[in-house]
Amino acid sequence: MTSTTTTTMIAAPNREMAALAEERAAPAFPVRDMTYFLDGGKDATELKERFMLELERDPVWRKDDWPNLTLPEMRERTMAKARLIVNFLANEPVHVFRARMAVISTVDPGFWTRLGVHYGLFFGALQSQATSNQLTYWVQKGALAVHNMYGCFLMTEMGHGSNVQALETTATFDEASDEFVIHTPSLTATKWWIGGAAHTATHGTVYAQLIVRGKRHGVKVFVVPLRDPKAGTLLPGISIGDCGKKFGRDGIDNGWVQFTNVRIPRSYMLMKHTQVKRDGTVIDPPLAQLSYGALIQGRVAMVVDSGNTAKKALTIAIRYGAIRRQFASPGADQETKLLDYTIHQHRLLPLLAQTFAMHFAGREVDAMYTALMEQLDSVQPGQDMTTVLETLKETHATSAGLKAYCTWTTLNLIEQCRQTLGGHGYSEYTGLAPMLKDWAVQCTWEGDNTVLTLQLGRFLVSCCREAITAKTKGTRAKLGAGVAYLAQVPEILKRVCPVPVDAASGEVTDAMAVLDPSILRTAFEVAAACAVAKATREFETALSKHMQGVSATNKKARAAATERAHEDSAHARFVAAKTHSMGYLFGKFVDGVAKAPADLAAPLHRLVQLYGAHAITEHAGVFLTSGYLTAAHVSAVQTAMNALLRNVRKDAVPLVDAFNLTDFVVGSPFGAKDGNIYERYFERVTKLNPPLPKAPYFESTIKPLLERGIQDEEYPELED
Ligand SMILES: Cc1cc2nc3c(=O)[nH]c(=O)nc-3n(C[C@H](O)[C@H](O)[C@H](O)COP(=O)(O)OP(=O)(O)OC[C@H]3O[C@@H](n4cnc5c(N)ncnc54)[C@H](O)[C@@H]3O)c2cc1C
Repeated sequence: MTSTTTTTMIAAPNREMAALAEERAAPAFPVRDMTYFLDGGKDATELKERFMLELERDPVWRKDDWPNLTLPEMRERTMAKARLIVNFLANEPVHVFRARMAVISTVDPGFWTRLGVHYGLFFGALQSQATSNQLTYWVQKGALAVHNMYGCFLMTEMGHGSNVQALETTATFDEASDEFVIHTPSLTATKWWIGGAAHTATHGTVYAQLIVRGKRHGVKVFVVPLRDPKAGTLLPGISIGDCGKKFGRDGIDNGWVQFTNVRIPRSYMLMKHTQVKRDGTVIDPPLAQLSYGALIQGRVAMVVDSGNTAKKALTIAIRYGAIRRQFASPGADQETKLLDYTIHQHRLLPLLAQTFAMHFAGREVDAMYTALMEQLDSVQPGQDMTTVLETLKETHATSAGLKAYCTWTTLNLIEQCRQTLGGHGYSEYTGLAPMLKDWAVQCTWEGDNTVLTLQLGRFLVSCCREAITAKTKGTRAKLGAGVAYLAQVPEILKRVCPVPVDAASGEVTDAMAVLDPSILRTAFEVAAACAVAKATREFETALSKHMQGVSATNKKARAAATERAHEDSAHARFVAAKTHSMGYLFGKFVDGVAKAPADLAAPLHRLVQLYGAHAITEHAGVFLTSGYLTAAHVSAVQTAMNALLRNVRKDAVPLVDAFNLTDFVVGSPFGAKDGNIYERYFERVTKLNPPLPKAPYFESTIKPLLERGIQDEEYPELED
C-alpha cells in the first residue's frame, strides 16, 4: 500500500477534528442516502468506492510526491498508468469502465487527458468519420486495444484553431499513385498543442484541406502514421517536437508536428461523410450535420467533469472553513469559524448550489447524448430525418453552451475556493492551486468557450427568427424541448411575476414566494427569452442595413452581409447564450431534485432556491430587463439571501460529505475528512521539504554576498 500522508496518520482528536465532528453531530438529512441518490444508487456508490480504494492502494497512482517530480518524471509516471487501464478497458463493460474513468479524471486530470487523446479524440474521430469498413480495419490494426497503435488528434495549427475551415495543412490527391500527399505548407500550418504527439503517438487523425485536381473541397480527416511503433522513431517526412512546459496538466506530452509530402493510401481518408473515388470524383455528404455527433461527446464529458471537479474543490474549502478560526465575537471564548461569517457563506455556499446544479445537468445531458446516439445509430436508409436533425442541432448547440458555461463556472469556483484558504491556498500542497492550473485549459480546448457561447447564441437567434416567422404565418415553429420557450416570443415577454408587491411600502412581503421553483423557472425562461429576442432584434436591424443594395441572387454578398449582421450583434448574442445556459442548468437541477426521496428533498430544495437567488442577485440586470421581476422582487431576494445561506450553512459539511470522496481522491490535507488539517499539512510540507541545517547554495551565493569586500564609500554617513 502506498504510504501517502493523507491516509496513514492516526492522531488523537484535536481542536480541528472536534470542530469538524461538531458539524456532523446532527445532520438534517441521511448523508449516506444523499450519496446513493447523487451516484444513482447503492451499487453505483459501492462501485465508485471500489475504484477509489483500488487507486489508493496501487503505487502507480500515488500523488504525495507530485509537487517534486520533474516534467519527464511526471510524463513517464503518467504513461505507466495507460498499461494498467487498457487491461480494464478490455475486460470491463463500457458503463463500468466509464465510471472508473470518471473517478480517475478527478484524481489525475493529466492521465485522463493522455488516455483521452487516444480514446476520446483519435478513436472518437474514427468512430464518427470512418465508414464501417474503415472502422473495422483500424480496430483490427489495434486502435481499440491500443496495440501497436497510440493515437493523437491533429486539428489545431500554430496560426489557426477555432476557425477549422481556415486550416492550412493540405491533403492533395495523387491520381497516379492513388495516394494523398499530406503537407505542411508554412510555419503557421504546423500542427500545435497536439496531445500525445511529442513522445507517444504512432498514428494521428489529421485535419487537412482536401485538394483534388487542383480544386479545394474543404477540411477532411486523414489517418497518418507518425512513428514506427516498435522502434518509437519518426517515419519519413514527419517532424515532431515538444511544446514543453505548460500552465498545468504536465503529464500529457503536447507536441508540434510538420509533414513534408507524406504519402498515405487513399483509403486512409475517413470517408463516412465525404468520399473520394479512385478516379478522383468527390462525393459530398447529403447531411453534413450528422458529423456534429463527434463533438458532442467531449463536451458532455466536460460538463460531467465540471461537477466532479467542483465537488473536490468544495470538499477542501468547506471542511477548512469549518475548522479555521479568525477573530472572536465580543465575549466569545474562542475565535469564530470562517464558515460562520456571513461573507464567507456568500462566497462559498452559492458555489455549492452551482455544483449540485452541474451534477444534475451533467447527468441529464449525458442521458440526452446517449439517447441521441441510439437514435442516430438506428437511422434507416430513406427515413425522414427532420426530427433527428432537429434534436441533433439542439443537442450540439446546447452542449457547446453548457461546456462553456460549466467549465467557466468551475474555473471561477476553484479560484474562489483557493482564496478562501488565505495564504495556504497559494501552496502547491493544499491542492487548489494545481487544480486551478489543470482546470484552466478546459475553457479553451475542444472549442474555445467564447467561440462556443457565440455558436449557441447563433442557434438561439435562428430559433427565435424561426418562431417569429412561423407566427406571422399563423403556425408554430418546431423547436426542441430545451428551446421550446422561444416559440412563445413575444407573448412570454409580457409575463409578470405573480408574487405581489405591497402598494404602500413598494416592497415584496413574501420574499420566499419569489424563490418558489416554478416562479424561478419562469423567471429564467423570460430572462433568456428577453435576451434572445434582443439579440434577434439587433441581428435583424444589422441585417437590413448590410443587405441594402445587395441583389437577391448574389449568394456570396448575402452570406457576407449575414456574417456582418451576426458580428454586429455578437455581444447581445453572447449574453443571450449565457443567460440561456444559466436557466437550462436551473431547469435540469429542478428536474433532478424532483426525483429525490422525501428525506432528501428539504436540503436539495434549499440549494435550488440558493442557485436561483444567487443568479438573480448576480445577474440582476438580465432579470430586471426582462420585466418579469421588478426591482422590489430582486431586492426581496437579495434580502432573503442571508437567511437562506444560514440554513444551507448548517448542511454544508454533511453535503460535501455526501460527495463521498476519499482523502486520497481529494488529495489535500485541507480536505481531510477527520479535520486533522494542520498536522497533515505540516507533515506533507516537511516530508517534501526536509528542514536543512543550511541552504544548499549558502557557500556559492549567500556567503559571498554577505562577506563581499565593502568599499567605505558604499556606506552613507549617519548624521546627527
Ligand atoms: C493543453 C492543450 C492541449 C490541446 N490539445 C489539442 C489536441 O490534442 N489536438 C488539437 O487539435 N488541438 C489541441 N489543442 C488546441 C485547442 O483545441 C485550441 O487551442 C482551441 O481550440 C482554441 O483555438 P486557438 O488556440 O487557435 O485560439 P483562437 O481561436 O485563436 O482564439 C484566441 C482568442 O480569440 C477569441 N476568438 C476567436 N474567434 C473569435 C470570434 N469569432 N469572435 C470573438 N472572439 C474570438 C477566443 O475567444 C480566444 O480568446 C490543445 C490546446 C491546449 C492549450
